[in-house]
Amino acid sequence: MASIVVVGGGLAGLTCAWRLLRAGHQVEVLEASDQPGGHLGVVDADEPEIDTGESFDERFDVNTLRLAQQLDVGGVRQPVSAGAPHARDRADVAVLRDGRLYGERGRGLVGYLATSLLPLGARLGLASYGARALLWGRRLRMARAEWVQRLDTTSYAEDALRFAGRDAAQLVLGPVAEAATSCPTYELSRAFALEAGLRWWLPGRPIAFARGGRELVDALAARVRVRRECEVVAVESETDGARVRYRVRGDERNALADAVVVAVSAAHVSRVCAKLTPDEAGFFESVRYAPRLGVHLVLAPLPAPLLNRSFVLPRREGHASISIRIGRLRADDEGQRTTVLTLWSSPAVVEDDLRASDGALVERALRDLSRTPIGRIAVRDARVSRRPNAVPLFSVGHPTRVERFVDRIDRTPRVAFAGDYLVAPDVEGGVTSGMRAATRIAREFAAARTEGSAALRC
Ligand SMILES: Cc1cc2nc3c(=O)[nH]c(=O)nc-3n(C[C@H](O)[C@H](O)[C@H](O)COP(=O)(O)OP(=O)(O)OC[C@H]3O[C@@H](n4cnc5c(N)ncnc54)[C@H](O)[C@@H]3O)c2cc1C
Repeated sequence: MASIVVVGGGLAGLTCAWRLLRAGHQVEVLEASDQPGGHLGVVDADEPEIDTGESFDERFDVNTLRLAQQLDVGGVRQPVSAGAPHARDRADVAVLRDGRLYGERGRGLVGYLATSLLPLGARLGLASYGARALLWGRRLRMARAEWVQRLDTTSYAEDALRFAGRDAAQLVLGPVAEAATSCPTYELSRAFALEAGLRWWLPGRPIAFARGGRELVDALAARVRVRRECEVVAVESETDGARVRYRVRGDERNALADAVVVAVSAAHVSRVCAKLTPDEAGFFESVRYAPRLGVHLVLAPLPAPLLNRSFVLPRREGHASISIRIGRLRADDEGQRTTVLTLWSSPAVVEDDLRASDGALVERALRDLSRTPIGRIAVRDARVSRRPNAVPLFSVGHPTRVERFVDRIDRTPRVAFAGDYLVAPDVEGGVTSGMRAATRIAREFAAARTEGSAALRC
């Protein structure tokens, strides 16, 4: 049995810790904030407690659902179509054009083809692009490294423009991808988008947990030892282990473990690990994050057919918001729920929006909304949430650099890394990276025991 410290109690860190615990190791998670869960578990003070309702798909979120099963989470999980309260289907994104919504609930790409959103030629372009995504996306999933490097040479915007045509690229392919990733499509890697596109374009079979995605966080945090308000300031390899220095309520402390898993955002890794190998330092310097800004409008309940829907607003139509998500506030003590519309800023304007005043942003959101079928509405409350480093950018070159990083020879001894930036910017990405880090460490310890070696290359 080895002692392992996991730095960071987001989904990646918690998943890794739970897997290592199950493999018989002694594990402790150090989390800087007062509650675990990272991006999934924390609601900013200025953000209303929305039932965001992450939904999962049995074909794509394989590791998340396997984890949920092992943790006995989601016993009451329901198909979204059955009206689960926390429901959202990623394939259910309506496109707004000339004040009308196009796209059919849960039908993915086919839902746009069946409407008059696009002229006939553009519909053919969209259909053939969908078929291409299916072909290449499947290959990417099966044989990653070889295909990733081959396809990670151009942006999704260029690829879509070339193979699907201007209308299909600007009205459907681009806006849906920007809404899903917060990344401008002229930066987004074609390799990442073609693989992720399977999830965006294939008709969904989504299921949701009864209390939303945070059920996973709660179940993990109940099983592993998480020390809150422990901000790790340094991780250093030593001959027989790795030392972690951390601050807890102003006190400096340290601990020696057999291995450490660093599961913080890539932007924070070099602050924590001062002595990375050159390959590792180069990789972490290259990872960039996109900001997210949401204007949350709290209003009287909207009609049920609109609930849990998402709309994308193509930039070509002159909107500053890229998408509108209709959700509900957490039920209050009397079980009452209120509708919340969140308008997310387009990647094209989000940097400027971070500096704009709340009043101006709310006013603009209402203007964008007045051009949708929702029209002018009375708002009870409005809040703006700003997250400067929210989402890892899977831009051109990033997927290839991840492949090289994973296979690097020159590794900091006894230190492993986990985080969504290594797989995909979503729950499945965080969970998968945590599982992979745990598997690698468990294997290394087993091999070291067999060979009687003390040199661990996690
Ligand atoms: C606004 C928003 C909405 C999203 N919605 C969805 C969605 O609907 N569906 C979906 O699938 N995904 C969604 N995502 C993405 C998903 O939440 C993330 O991909 C996932 O949670 C990332 O997990 P992680 O563990 O890799 O990183 P993080 O969540 O960033 O966790 C890192 C943890 O490390 C801690 N930490 C940092 N520094 C230190 C330190 N020095 N010492 C100790 N601890 C430290 C942090 O406090 C944090 O808890 C959303 C993300 C955002 C920002």
